[in-house]
Amino acid sequence: MPTGAELRDKFLKFFSGHDHLILPSASLVLKDDPSLLLVVAGMVPFKPYFLGKAQPPHPRVTTSQKCLRTQDLEAVGRTARHHTFFEMLGNFSFGDYFKKEAIAWAWEYLTREMGLSPKDLWITVYRDDQEAADIWHDSIGVPRERIVPLGKETNFWEAGPVGPCGPCSEILIDLGPERGCGSPDCGVDCECDRYLELWNLVFMEFNRDEEGNFTELPRQNIDTGMGLERIASVVQGVPNNFETDLLFPLIKEVSAIAGISYRADPKSDVALKVIADHARAVAFLIGDGVLPSNEGRGYVLRRILRRAVRYGRLVGITGAFFSRITGRVISLYGDHYRELAERSDYIQKIVALEEERFVGTLEQGLQILEEYLEKFEKTGEKSLPGGVAFRLYDTFGFPLELTQEILAERGLSVDMDGFRSSMEKQRQKARAAWLETAPINSFGVCTAYRCSKTDFQGYASLSTSSQIQA
Ligand code: ATP
Ligand code: MG
Ligand code: MG
Ligand code: MG
Repeated sequence: MPTGAELRDKFLKFFSGHDHLILPSASLVLKDDPSLLLVVAGMVPFKPYFLGKAQPPHPRVTTSQKCLRTQDLEAVGRTARHHTFFEMLGNFSFGDYFKKEAIAWAWEYLTREMGLSPKDLWITVYRDDQEAADIWHDSIGVPRERIVPLGKETNFWEAGPVGPCGPCSEILIDLGPERGCGSPDCGVDCECDRYLELWNLVFMEFNRDEEGNFTELPRQNIDTGMGLERIASVVQGVPNNFETDLLFPLIKEVSAIAGISYRADPKSDVALKVIADHARAVAFLIGDGVLPSNEGRGYVLRRILRRAVRYGRLVGITGAFFSRITGRVISLYGDHYRELAERSDYIQKIVALEEERFVGTLEQGLQILEEYLEKFEKTGEKSLPGGVAFRLYDTFGFPLELTQEILAERGLSVDMDGFRSSMEKQRQKARAAWLETAPINSFGVCTAYRCSKTDFQGYASLSTSSQIQA
């Protein structure tokens, strides 16, 4: 059975055999692209080529790109297929080949190289893209009833609010009714895991500008993306991404520390999966130079790390443990992603430090929350006062989303107006204290929760943090 690393290689070699230049993954952090916090897809590093603003090293390129999607954070461990950090395999044409070749190679790769049965594969196309539907039917031979036209939400691809985009066609595999939600409406556009979306082929023809106008790109391009973990789960015959060799060693490590077994209970399985997922995200983010902070990418990192630590508590882990899992990430991925191996000590120090800071206050914060939850049970109140959520954030290091999530588990929420006004008051105080010297440790990280420097920026950005799309 091929390993994840072999599948990554195989993909790149297949496209290299079709004259694609193999490029290494770009960093998760692209400093020249202010429209995105982090790389969310394989095409992101190539935007300048699609836009005709820079010359690609070769008209055809293939990569396995590190990606991070915070919009999928809450799906992690609850679906079989979503991660925050994942690897996206892709082949790209910069004004070279177009639909016909992209479709033919994707089909050949899945059915011949990966050995998937054509009768299990389903195709979606953008509803106005008759050309793509015809290629799938006429040149590939997919029956019309398995080519499904869909709307913009799923079949028009955009990396962000601005940039290159276009209609797309996706390849899904039917994993059988036992993997589905059972609804009579379950089909290729269902959110459940039966029809697993493997590969998205984007026919990149347009650019969307700040005003939302679409203009044609100088040339027609191809951008495709297939999740390595998803194809691995299918080829390795396991029921979810977490049981592939790409993630299962991490699950094993967490379950050993927690002293519980995987598959003992669906609830603890979610926790094991979340921790495994988040450990990859954290190790790769720090490896790419992100440091925990209260704004931007640093906040994404902090939020993910602290969420993982709290999930550790849910499976009974009391001490600091997370750097053991990120250590395993480094040993699993360090051969291919050299930046992890080279910065191993640094990554581990940052993780240990950030976990230590949070572990010190997590218990107290949870206790405060618990008291409110007990009280609410008696009074029937549904909303935590904003000032309390703010104190948890400011004094106990609870990212707002973490508090919201803990409350949501019991059908409760945070009074956001109160939260914002507490934050505004604190922001004014922080502004006054702007020139205060913050304690900075040897890694250049402010070690105080009430770090006037980072908090000062943080309050401004946190108020929009729910809109932060990595
Ligand atoms: P889904 O509908 O399953 O959320 P998507 O349509 O959002 O996937 P795309 O934006 O089309 O995904 O990304 C291209 C490919 O990347 C997908 O077909 C899938 O194989 C993979 N992928 C996308 N999101 C994730 C994720 N959160 N974790 C793992 N793989 C992913
Ligand atoms: Mg998605
Ligand atoms: Mg989709
Ligand atoms: Mg898709």
